[in-house]
Amino acid sequence: MIIDGKAIAERIKGKAKNCCSDCYRKPNAVAFILGENPSSEAYLRMIERTLKSVDFGYTLIRLPETISEEELLQKIVEKNLDTEVDGILVQMPLPEHISEERVIMTIAPEKDLDGFHPINAGRLFKGEKGTRPCTPLAVITIFKELDIDLEGKYIVVIGRSNIVGKPLAVMLMQNNATVTICHSKTVDLEEHTRKADIIIVAVGIPNFLTRDMVTEKSIVIDVGINEVDGKIVGDVDYDSMKDYVHMITPVPGGVGPVTNAVLLLNLIEHFRGVVRCIS
Ligand code: NAD
Repeated sequence: MIIDGKAIAERIKGKAKNCCSDCYRKPNAVAFILGENPSSEAYLRMIERTLKSVDFGYTLIRLPETISEEELLQKIVEKNLDTEVDGILVQMPLPEHISEERVIMTIAPEKDLDGFHPINAGRLFKGEKGTRPCTPLAVITIFKELDIDLEGKYIVVIGRSNIVGKPLAVMLMQNNATVTICHSKTVDLEEHTRKADIIIVAVGIPNFLTRDMVTEKSIVIDVGINEVDGKIVGDVDYDSMKDYVHMITPVPGGVGPVTNAVLLLNLIEHFRGVVRCIS
């Protein structure tokens, strides 16, 4: 079965649109972008489309690449204090003279749409209520939407980044799965993947997961986004696997649209002022 990420994203948007219809105002998000970067621009256009499709507010603040760190932090603080702003995004990467860490630390945890603030990361680690990073939240949401019970499942996550692999592994564990994280130094990767009920790949290498590494029972979730000859592909050798494995997400049209849609859930949580544990 091919998992339809676009359909799941539409269902999330439908729920998001309805949930704030009787409120005195709509949730508002603010994004900061520094300088010009085509892939950042494309990403933010997608976020804007998603927010506008459910009539949520969106303001893009364009700043020169030369802005000082102090000035940028001051602008973020202003939005932290603005009671009409519920969520803040700062588009990475930032110019070299600005510390990503300081920027992330400056966004108020209760307005941190990406869920990257150390307070939110700590809350995730401890299983407390807090904002979850969008891509791991999207993967968990896919399982929930498909009624896939994670309890007792053996799940292999390939990739250990702070934004995908690590938080995802924690969220899967909190859903009672047995989780192994594999990475660039893992020996005999296919030993793990062939035993897994679910394999989640977040590596950033096209055709990384091949058919000999999976079984007919595997559920394969492809988080990768890579550009090859002007086309977007994932980390999975999709064509050789799509009619073989039990379930698989395509790229594009799998995890990506759900990642954009779950940003709405994070924004709604901030808007309500009650950050509950979604995962
Ligand atoms: P990253 O570069 O920070 O991490 C890559 C991970 O892959 C590392 O932990 C590394 O240990 C592992 N890795 C590298 N080579 C390996 C190998 N040979 N064997 C096993 N593991 C190996 O990347 P990231 O930010 O986690 O992103 C991973 C991919 O997911 C990228 O393609 C990125 O574009 C994509 N991504 C997609 C979304 C989405 O919404 N769909 C969001 C974020 C990232």
